[in-house]
Amino acid sequence: MKILVINCGSSSLKYQLIDMETEKVLAKGNCEKIGLPDAFHKHKTADGKEAVYNNPLPTHLEAVNSVLASLTDKEVGVISSLDEIDAIGHRIVQGGSIFKKSTIIDDKVTEQIEDLATLAPLHNKAHALGIRMCHEALPNVPMVAVFDTSFHQTMPEEAYMYGLPYEMCQEYKIRRYGAHGTSHKFVSQKAIEMLGKGPEGTKIIVCHLGNGSSITAVKDGKSVDTSMGLTPLDGLMMGTRCGSIDPAIIPYIIKNCGVKVEDLNNFMNKKCGVQGISGVSSDFRDLEEAAEKGNKRAQLALDMFVYQVRKFIGSYIAALNGVDAIVFTAGIGENDCEVRRHVMEGLNNLGAEIDVEKNKVRGQQVDITGPNSKIKVFVIPTNEELMIAKETMALVK
Ligand code: ADP
Repeated sequence: MKILVINCGSSSLKYQLIDMETEKVLAKGNCEKIGLPDAFHKHKTADGKEAVYNNPLPTHLEAVNSVLASLTDKEVGVISSLDEIDAIGHRIVQGGSIFKKSTIIDDKVTEQIEDLATLAPLHNKAHALGIRMCHEALPNVPMVAVFDTSFHQTMPEEAYMYGLPYEMCQEYKIRRYGAHGTSHKFVSQKAIEMLGKGPEGTKIIVCHLGNGSSITAVKDGKSVDTSMGLTPLDGLMMGTRCGSIDPAIIPYIIKNCGVKVEDLNNFMNKKCGVQGISGVSSDFRDLEEAAEKGNKRAQLALDMFVYQVRKFIGSYIAALNGVDAIVFTAGIGENDCEVRRHVMEGLNNLGAEIDVEKNKVRGQQVDITGPNSKIKVFVIPTNEELMIAKETMALVK
């Protein structure tokens, strides 16, 4: 079975074609700047063939058609006919409280995804559009929606409610939804395998640390709390996002710092985080290089990030009343052994230690637990696309 995984953004479309027998990515690529004059499409195959197309991509329909043409192309194609695509899995950012699991897409589901755009304006509109365009191009291929929020739908009320008037929360659907659920699910399942037990009775903390970062407490294989909230702005300070701040800072900066209400979202999402603190970069490789050369603000940004990660881990150990395994994943979690080492340095009093030598790994699934540690510590590379493909296969089979 071959599954096409689509991640549609407002001006981009990323894809992977995955062979489910081998779990191998046959081809992948992305269309960027859809709707702009300099739009392009990059395509890459498993055996290293590459192509860049500069045909106009005025809408997502042309982007979908360009992707399908590249997959069947004589030079860089990986299938001989579009009939070989058995199903399409769509990554959807916001499933609200409606979608507790992945679901087969029909017209009603597409409309519901579109309606949830009130909670994720840029993303869900683009997802619904992408779904419609794929259906137009391949009307007979079943499609599945896999939501970033579904895994967190098991959180109890006390974890997902905010301290706002109850009626307002109900009417306007204000609550913690979380994000990166596909990654947290994939990684926590792997961690449970590594613990060598079934999910029942396990307590795991997954640190998904990338450009966007979130931490999830997983009990019995289910999410019970997560750091991202109504939107992916909540929780940790990130590459360019501020994370949780005193809510009173918002009226304060509007009144005193020249930030306009209409620019607030962009400001808090794009101008803050480690980028805002360091003034250097949102990328941890750049920050570490700058800090090594003595840049104090880059060092401060790194220290703040590490401190916040450690604080979340500590609070989730309390929320879970213990923990069996702490797991690091995503760009920083998988590759940055310094961040991992510093986070774990402050947890030795709780009985968690890493093996400094084993920790010197990048992008591999490894047990980095120290010899005297009571808590396991794992590095587990995430694979959201494979998880989406697996969920899609399970539903269409
Ligand atoms: P996204 O949220 O965009 O999916 P990723 O999970 O791909 O992000 O993470 C991207 C981030 O990972 C980069 O911004 C960078 O900070 C970090 N990163 C990637 N490789 C390394 C590395 N070798 N060392 C340190 N940080 C890294």
